[in-house]
Amino acid sequence: MFFVRTNRCNLRCTWCDTTYSFSGGSEIDLNDLVARAASAWEEWICFTGGEPLIQAEALEFLQGVSKAGKKTLVETSGSINIGKFAATRNVFFDMDIKTPSSGEESSLFAGNLGYLKHGDYVKFVIKNQADYDFAVDWLGRLGSIEAIFQPCGGTDLKWLVESAIRDGINVRVLPQLHKLIWGERKGV
Ligand code: SF4
Repeated sequence: MFFVRTNRCNLRCTWCDTTYSFSGGSEIDLNDLVARAASAWEEWICFTGGEPLIQAEALEFLQGVSKAGKKTLVETSGSINIGKFAATRNVFFDMDIKTPSSGEESSLFAGNLGYLKHGDYVKFVIKNQADYDFAVDWLGRLGSIEAIFQPCGGTDLKWLVESAIRDGINVRVLPQLHKLIWGERKGV
């Protein structure tokens, strides 16, 4: 994937691992960004943050790369109404439903669930048993939308996998592979 990481976020999750994105960065002209993404060899763009959908030109960016034939995965917190973005061709969502340990459990824009389609998925970051129980409780409300359980930081991956197997739930358990490979580093 070709990564576009935007700055700023409207949330403050307790375990956020990208706090460096809350400020700083550098401005890039929309047309330049679309051109760079459109000419990348990667078929997919990852549009992430921070919270990418609070950028004033987020929609124009998504439309621009869509016109160029790229597919985009938008990593969003679930707190922003995704409706107008979901209408863009070749835009897919990795949408969080914030678990209790995040401290942002109430941030979900509930209407977003109605915009998700085949190819999108929701992600629960799981730190403890309460998060796990919360996420399992949600599964019945997701219909055919795929769910990912992601262990938070040092959460025991084996515990999470064995819990999912024991409970017979239909989820993908997906650790942050880049951290397993490269550790806590920016730019990977
Ligand atoms: S939504 Fe993402 S970037 Fe924003 S505070 Fe939470 S984990 Fe960090």
